[in-house]
Amino acid sequence: MYVQCVSCVRKYRFDPAAVPAGGASAVCKGCGARLPVAPRDNAEADAARPPVTKAAHQKELKWYARSDELLRGMGYQRKTAEYNMLFFMLREFRKRLGITFFDMGCSVRLKRVDRELAYNRLSFFGDCCVAPVPGGPPSCIPDLLCGMAEVLRAKDSARRFCADELLRVAYPDSFPVLVRFVLGVGFETSYAETVYGSAVQIDIGLDAVRELPEGYDGADLERRARVEISRVPIETGALPLAELLAPGLHLRPGRDPDLRCASPVLDALLAHYAGGAD
Ligand SMILES: [Zn+2]
Repeated sequence: MYVQCVSCVRKYRFDPAAVPAGGASAVCKGCGARLPVAPRDNAEADAARPPVTKAAHQKELKWYARSDELLRGMGYQRKTAEYNMLFFMLREFRKRLGITFFDMGCSVRLKRVDRELAYNRLSFFGDCCVAPVPGGPPSCIPDLLCGMAEVLRAKDSARRFCADELLRVAYPDSFPVLVRFVLGVGFETSYAETVYGSAVQIDIGLDAVRELPEGYDGADLERRARVEISRVPIETGALPLAELLAPGLHLRPGRDPDLRCASPVLDALLAHYAGGAD
């Protein structure tokens, strides 16, 4: 099992068998913080083993291997409930998007929230991580959200993975509570340098994902997610979880005098949401 330090995000691997039933406490070698280590009872069957019928398909085996590499790189351990849930989601994304490997970046972050607990965030980065707009740029968001909702409903009917439960689960750092879609762009500065940052950021809580209707098309995304579209780099690092989970539309169509973002995708989004402001 993995335990991550909230202060310095260093990860540690523990033998689950060595953790007593009442929990234990370790000291982070990176920053000296105390790490509470709770016993984990989340062992499950191996969902990521390629089916024997696929054994001769090199592309299939490659997809399984890359998926496994991705999830383990995010700190999850095979044959655990969290790993399996994320694996089922990857498999669903592949089914819906009709591609051999889902090559969008995923990352899990740890952040301090109220009551000294931590949550994970699953982040998707890419050109299609934008709010869907009629006639606008292609968006992967409805497909990905529908896929996640379906997997959550099918595999987690007990609502074990759920933000409502955040303050009650035994190991709240275990599974994403927040899903984020990010479009990153380069912002040109008046002194001819380029600053890279997010121009679109969409945060949606796992509970909101779970409640999406079947065949959700993303039309009312801003009523279900926090949507931010900006011509200056977006910085939400200091926002508490409650604010990131609150649905709403945040537009910053004006250009910073020192920063210029020229992106046709962004222009289309702003034209739709802000009526072509600026
Ligand atoms: Zn630390």
